[in-house]
Amino acid sequence: YHGKRGSADIVVYAGEDMAHPTQWLVVQAELRHALARDELVLHYQPKVDLRSGAVVGVEALVRWQHPQRGLLPPSEFLPAAEQSGLIEPLTAWVLRRALADQAAWTAAGRTWDVSVNVSARNVEKPGFADFVSGLLAGHGTAPHRLLLEITETALAADTRLAEQAVIDLTARGIGISVDDFGTGYTSMSQLRGLPIAEVKIDRTFVKDVLDAPPSQAIVRAVIALAHGLGSRVTAEGIETPEVADWLRRAGCDEAQGYLYSRPVPWAEIKTYEITGAVS
Ligand code: C2E
Ligand code: MG
Ligand code: MG
Ligand code: MG
Repeated sequence: YHGKRGSADIVVYAGEDMAHPTQWLVVQAELRHALARDELVLHYQPKVDLRSGAVVGVEALVRWQHPQRGLLPPSEFLPAAEQSGLIEPLTAWVLRRALADQAAWTAAGRTWDVSVNVSARNVEKPGFADFVSGLLAGHGTAPHRLLLEITETALAADTRLAEQAVIDLTARGIGISVDDFGTGYTSMSQLRGLPIAEVKIDRTFVKDVLDAPPSQAIVRAVIALAHGLGSRVTAEGIETPEVADWLRRAGCDEAQGYLYSRPVPWAEIKTYEITGAVS
């Protein structure tokens, strides 16, 4: 870690063939050690109310502070974690860390919700909702202050298991967010039956929304669908004020993106309200 602000310092390790089985095993073995040696870190990205401009929550995004390779983004190790079953201890670590940090910022007077990304394998595991409830109780955190982000692809993958998990989690008061919406294949009947707190519009539609009428149509349709189902809508990947304006006028509720802040370490996010935009 080079100590620079923001996440531009993430090293994407080129020249590695992740398809190579030996390399895959190396990553898995190293990741097992990483968990034991506490080499994972969370960066946080604020989520902003598009009307008031206030920070309403933060999303936890995991990185791996690799002893040789530097700060690695999730794309470098999550696939190996998901394949190997290490995703379970990894998600448990992320949840514990995020809830502990949230308890600290709550004590400092900030009411931010925290969003944690979870994989299909996590939610499909029987007892996951009880596990999360137990962690919340341990931190004295109200369940509605946690949002679990499940990608639309994960939700669609095994309909029955994923749907039951969503029902179990929401029955305990935990918020569910459907991440990367628009890139997966959930059906309308699946969405109709699920109490979803938030829909996140995928960045691919957001980034060209000013110039691409098809993206505009999709974004407008997702906003109408989400609101019709009683969900909030968040747009991800907002990089310019013009895009933020367009989305606000289209009725989008909340936004995330480099315009407001890159994902940053806890030490930086905790001063966010004082210093304004972290860049
Ligand atoms: P995501 O949940 O959709 O998170 C948004 C990704 O877009 C993050 O990448 C974030 O750094 C990036 N991003 C945010 N704003 C902008 C922007 O304005 N422009 C651009 N170009 N990018 C932006 P990151 O941190 O590399 O994470 C990638 C994915 O890895 C996440 O996508 C999420 O699906 C997964 N992930 C991250 N942390 C965890 C975790 O703790 N557990 C699990 N299961 N998955 C995680
Ligand atoms: Mg997410
Ligand atoms: Mg997303
Ligand atoms: Mg995304």
